[in-house]
Amino acid sequence: MEQIPGILIVEDEPITALDIKGILEQSGYRVAGIAETGERALEIVRTEPPDLILMDIILGGTMNGIELATAIKERHRIPIIYITSLSDASTFARTLSTDPYGYITKPLDTTMLTHMIDLALYKQRIAATLHESEARFRAIIDQLPLAVSLYTPDGVLTDVNTAWETIWGLDPQEQIGRFNIRNHEPVISRGLQNYIDEAFRGESVIIPEMTVERPPDRPGGAPRPMILRCRAFPILEKGGAIQSIVFLHEDITERKQAEEQALYYSMFDNLTGLPNREVFATRLHTEIMKSKRRGNEYIFGVMCLGTDRFKNINEMHGPVTGDKLLKEIAKRLKTTFRADDLVARLEGDKFIVLLSDIKTADDISSIVRKTEDAFRAPLTAAGIELTVSMTIGVCLYPNDGDKAEALIKNSEAALYMAKQRGTGTYHLYDHTMHEQTIHNLRLEKDLVVAIDNQEFRAFYQPKVNREGAIVGMESLIRWQSPARGLVPPLHFIPLAEKNGLIKDIGYIIMYESCRQTKEWQTMGLPPLKVAVNLSSFQFRQPCLIDKIKEILSVTGLDPQWLEFEITESGIMENEKESIGKLNEINALGVSISIDDFGTGYSSLSKLKSLPIDTIKIDKSFVDDLPHDATSVNIATTIIDLAHNLGFKVVAEGVETKEQIDFLLYLGCDQFQGYYYSKPLPSDEFRKKLSTA
Ligand code: C2E
Ligand code: CA
Ligand code: CA
Repeated sequence: MEQIPGILIVEDEPITALDIKGILEQSGYRVAGIAETGERALEIVRTEPPDLILMDIILGGTMNGIELATAIKERHRIPIIYITSLSDASTFARTLSTDPYGYITKPLDTTMLTHMIDLALYKQRIAATLHESEARFRAIIDQLPLAVSLYTPDGVLTDVNTAWETIWGLDPQEQIGRFNIRNHEPVISRGLQNYIDEAFRGESVIIPEMTVERPPDRPGGAPRPMILRCRAFPILEKGGAIQSIVFLHEDITERKQAEEQALYYSMFDNLTGLPNREVFATRLHTEIMKSKRRGNEYIFGVMCLGTDRFKNINEMHGPVTGDKLLKEIAKRLKTTFRADDLVARLEGDKFIVLLSDIKTADDISSIVRKTEDAFRAPLTAAGIELTVSMTIGVCLYPNDGDKAEALIKNSEAALYMAKQRGTGTYHLYDHTMHEQTIHNLRLEKDLVVAIDNQEFRAFYQPKVNREGAIVGMESLIRWQSPARGLVPPLHFIPLAEKNGLIKDIGYIIMYESCRQTKEWQTMGLPPLKVAVNLSSFQFRQPCLIDKIKEILSVTGLDPQWLEFEITESGIMENEKESIGKLNEINALGVSISIDDFGTGYSSLSKLKSLPIDTIKIDKSFVDDLPHDATSVNIATTIIDLAHNLGFKVVAEGVETKEQIDFLLYLGCDQFQGYYYSKPLPSDEFRKKLSTA
C-alpha cells in the first residue's frame, strides 16, 4: 500500500504549529514532525526525511528558514513551501534562491494550503520519476561497451561514460571542462581531424575504422595503438542550433585481431605458416583463368613433394622434432622457389608448389634439380642435424588437368608413382614427358663431368674456294664420351644452350680451335681461317669480348685467322646490344659470318649496317638445287643480294657436283660439304692439308 506522504512542520510558535498540524491531519495528511529550530529540523531531515516541508521564515535558534532550506537543498530533494507572515517583496525574492514549491502568507487559508501541498507533492513525484529515469538512463549508458562523450559546440568535453574512461584510461574529472577535441593534436591525426570538423559542422559522421594511440598506461610507457570505430552526431536545440556533439567510440582492437587471426587460421597452416590447401586451390584457379585468357599459352606446373622417411624420423626423434623438421622444410622450400611461385602445405609431410610460367619440359628438370640441391645441406630441428630428401610428383596445366582439384590430385598421383620407384626421385604425370626429362637430366649430369674430364674434341671441315682449294675450315664439336661414344653436337648442344653449360663448352672449343690453328701455322702449313660456332647464349655473355681477347693472346693466334659463325636469330634477339657486340668483335680484327642464313626472318638489308663478312646459305636451300624452283629462287636471290651488299657467300652442306656447278654459276664464293670432306679429327685434317 502506498504510504501517506509525511509533512514536516518547521515553526517556532507552538500554537501556530499545532494549528497547522490540525489542518493537515483534518485534510488527511500525515505530520512527520514539528521542529522549532533549524537544528532540530536538520536532525529530522537526516534521520527520517519527510516528503514535504512547511517552512516558517522566522525561526528560533541560529538559522532562519531560508538558510535552513539552503542547507537541506544541499543534500536532499525535498519540496519546501514557505509559510510566513512576512509578505514583503524582498523576503519573497530571497526565498527564490532555494527553489521553493510555494509561498503562503499567514493567516492560513486551509483550501489554499491543501491545494498547494497537493500540487507540490505531485510536482515532486514527477521530478522524482524524471530523476529516476535519468539515473536509469545514465546507468545504461555507463554499462555500454561504447565510449560516449559529449562536447560543447566549441569542442569542450562536458560528459563521458564509464567505457570512455576504460578506453582512454583517463580520469574524467581531469578532462571534463578542460579537454578540447578541436585542438588536441597528439592524439588526433589529420584524417581524423577532418571527420571531427565535419561533426562539429553538424553532420552525422561514421568512421568505420581508425587506429589511434591511447596514452601509455604508466608514466613513461609506450602509447598503445587501438583500433576504434567511431560515430559522431549533433544534438540539436529546437531552433536547430547545435547544443552538443556526441561521440561514440568502440574499441574494436581485439575483435579485429580475432578476425585477422581467424582469417589467418583459415588460410594458413598452423605449424609451418604456409598457405593451406584451400588457398593453394584458389590460387591455382586464378592461374587457370589467367592461362585461359591467354588461350592456354601460359603453362604452369604443380609440384607435390613428399618428405622421404618422415615417419621414421618421427618415430625415432619424437613428434616435437618431427614438427620442427616440417617447419624447417617449409622454410627451405620457401627460399628455393621464385617469388611468384606458391609453396603450400598439403597435409602431413606433403607440400605442394605452384610453378608459374613453365616454358618447356626442361624447365621442370631444372626446378627438380634446384629442389634436390636445396635439400643437399642438412636441416637442424631441435638441435639435431637431419638430412632429408624429397620425392616429387609434377603435373602440368593444361596437359594434365584443367581444374584446380584435378591438378592437385594428379600431382599427388605423380608423387605416388615416384615413391613406388623409390624415394628421392621424381615423376611427371605425363609419361612421355617424363622420359624426355629423365633423359635430359642424365645427359646434363654427364655433360658436367665431360667438361671436367675434357671429353670434347674439335673436328674440322674444310671450306674450299671456286677453284676447289682449301681456304678455311669450320670447327665442329664432338663429345668423346666413354659411355656414349662419339656424340654429335645436335644431341647435346641444344640442352647445353638451355642450361647454360654451353658457356663452358663454347670456350673450350674456341680455345682448342685457336690453339690448333696456331699450331698448324707454326708447323708451316698454309695459314687458314678457322670458323668457330658461337651460340646465341654465348653471344649474350657480358664477358665474351674479354674472353676472346684472352684466348687470342694465350694461343697467340692472329685475329685475322679467326671467324665466328652466328645465326641470324642469335643476332636479332636483341638487336641493339648485338650491334655493339658485333662491332667490338670486328674491332678485334675477328670476322663474322651469318650461319644458317635463310632460316630466320631477317632480311639481308637489315644486315647491311652490321660488320659482317660472310653469309652462309643454309644447307636446306642447297639440298634441292638445282631441281627445285623455290630453292633455286632463294639461292639466287640470297647470292645476288649478298654480293650487292658486299658480303661473301658460302654454301654449306654441298654433297654433289651438280649442286656445286649450279652454285658456281650463281657466283657463290666458297663451298663446304661432304662432297669435299666430312668434318675430320684434327690429325686427319692436318694430313689432308699436308697432301693438298
Ligand atoms: P652448323 O653450324 O650448321 O654446322 C654444319 C653442320 O652440317 C655440321 O653438323 C656438319 O657436319 C654438317 N654438314 C656439313 N656438310 C654436310 C653435308 O654435306 N651433308 C650433311 N648431311 N651435313 C653436312 P654437325 O657437326 O653435326 O653440327 C651440327 C650443329 O651443331 C652445327 O650446325 C652447329 O649449329 C652446332 N655446333 C657444332 N659445333 C659447335 C660448337 O662448337 N659450338 C656451337 N655453339 N655449336 C656447334
Ligand atoms: Ca656453323
Ligand atoms: Ca648450318
